[in-house]
Amino acid sequence: MKISIVGAGAMGSMFGGLLAESGNDVTLIDVNDAHIGAIRASGLRLVTDSGDRLVRSLRICRPEEAADVPELLVVFTKTLHTSAALSGVRHLTGSGVHVLSLQNGLGNVEKIAEFVAPERILIGVTTWPADMVAPGHVHSHGKGVVRLMAADGNPRPFVSQVCETLSSADLRCAEDAAVWAAIWEKVAFNAALNSICAVSGCTVDQLGLTPDGSRLADEVVLEVLSVARRLGIGVDPDKCRANVASAIAQHKGHKPSMLQDVLAGRRTEIEAINGAAVEAARRLDMKLATTDTLLSLVRLVEARAIA
Ligand code: NAD
Repeated sequence: MKISIVGAGAMGSMFGGLLAESGNDVTLIDVNDAHIGAIRASGLRLVTDSGDRLVRSLRICRPEEAADVPELLVVFTKTLHTSAALSGVRHLTGSGVHVLSLQNGLGNVEKIAEFVAPERILIGVTTWPADMVAPGHVHSHGKGVVRLMAADGNPRPFVSQVCETLSSADLRCAEDAAVWAAIWEKVAFNAALNSICAVSGCTVDQLGLTPDGSRLADEVVLEVLSVARRLGIGVDPDKCRANVASAIAQHKGHKPSMLQDVLAGRRTEIEAINGAAVEAARRLDMKLATTDTLLSLVRLVEARAIA
């Protein structure tokens, strides 16, 4: 399949590398010149449980240099850069292209729908992890899955083809009509752990140092998933609470991306996570007290970090 990935950081490079290795025609599109230069000079250094290698069978360019219209355009920027990234590749979003988002957070379909027709949007969620170690060098350890569906809910042959293509690259993808439940559960998980760690400076396991961390996380999960339930989405709060508790027990030393962003003086994905959940609640006349308080605190911490 001819695939372009806009936002070729940790996740975009990892997906792009695996898709290129399994024989797809892959172009990475990014604005990070150091990353572009490193991959052009030596290939993408991809380190996974399958080994440490250089992937040379892919291209990388800046948005304005991207000329070939792909069959599939994958968006893997942070959510706050989605609209700018799609504006930069607007010339690729003409008829024929399908756009897939596996980004975290809510509101991704709405942003993409400003560029392509709803029937050409695929939405999903992934549990694969990835880290950018240095320009041109990405790590991903452990196993994950991808679950996706057509954003308008209508099954289409192309969606199945995308699942097969991802699975052939060992990305373990399934088409799943219940993907919105998985998206909301991941939002609840991230709204809890990311925002509390970003505000407190704690790693995930340090939230277990006193009962307060776990209690706050539990409250956020229940609040966020109460919105999903009101929207008729079949989420499983008990499963999500258990996942949060197990992360606190096991993720020793892990700094969630929101804490890493604050420490590095970057903007975070808070608006697409706590912000979007609070906004969805407001439209339903609901209030999410703890989630909203954490939203305000992360906004403050973020403003201080980028000042
Ligand atoms: P990242 O910061 O490593 O990569 C984002 C890339 O987007 C960067 O290389 C950046 O230069 C690029 N970018 C920014 N603006 C751009 C623009 N205008 N045009 C083109 N490229 C642009 O982020 P990531 O960790 O790969 O995460 C991407 C998304 O996937 C996020 O929504 C994140 O929450 C989600 N996610 C991440 C992980 C993970 O383990 N890293 C796991 C699951 C989901």
